[in-house]
Amino acid sequence: MTVTILGVPWDERSSFMRGAALAPPAIRTALHSPSSNLCAESGVDLGSEPRLVDAGDLVLPAGGEALDAIDAGASRVLACGTRLLALGGDHAITYPIVRAQVRVHGPLTILHLDAHPDLYDAFEGDRYSHACPFARIMEEGLARRLVQVGLRTATPHQRAQAHRFGVEMIDMPAWRPDLDLDLGPSVYVSLDLDVLDPAFAPAVSHREPGGLSTREVTALLQRLRGTVIGADLVEFNPTRDGDGTTAMVAAKLLKELVAGML
Ligand code: MN
Ligand code: MN
Repeated sequence: MTVTILGVPWDERSSFMRGAALAPPAIRTALHSPSSNLCAESGVDLGSEPRLVDAGDLVLPAGGEALDAIDAGASRVLACGTRLLALGGDHAITYPIVRAQVRVHGPLTILHLDAHPDLYDAFEGDRYSHACPFARIMEEGLARRLVQVGLRTATPHQRAQAHRFGVEMIDMPAWRPDLDLDLGPSVYVSLDLDVLDPAFAPAVSHREPGGLSTREVTALLQRLRGTVIGADLVEFNPTRDGDGTTAMVAAKLLKELVAGML
């Protein structure tokens, strides 16, 4: 199975600060940095892997039309029969991408790694805010299961939404490094970089202390027993990445995700 990387440089629905739209080229630069190599920990070498394709970045219209353009762009890639790894952008991109994925795969089991549940019905009046994608996904029946890991900001409203939609929340107090998730034969992974503690990945818009380590997220991805049929990596904000540390973290997690998808 081939894997296609597609950049989605869009952050118009970020609630606090912009910058995530700059992430795709910054992650590629880190991925190809001569300071490291392109091998995942399993030994899969992305640098000599003919099954890995980079489709570049989507060119998106301004305003609300971008949501449909992201859906259409993802659909074009998926129509080639490849698996899609989308590089955000902020988390608002996940709703249109999941819509496109579901037309190919049917309702998904989603592993959502994030400090935030992103389940607001609306945030600051915006139903397509990066704080809302999983409310839209659940309302439209796009996920058969939604398992959220790493949460440390769930509000009463978001807990009520989770209850309403049957979302399985694993808040940080319930986290164990050896947590063994049984997600079935296929899983979609939505990885918000702020699931990591800001000590490991400071260049995110919403720094939320008390999160996972790079090792813990890497190990969780490696322990997934089902096939990763699609993924997104979102919320890296290069405007806060002075020395490029977080870009390297994002590139590392990209390598592990691709290794799990090939
Ligand atoms: Mn998020
Ligand atoms: Mn988040």
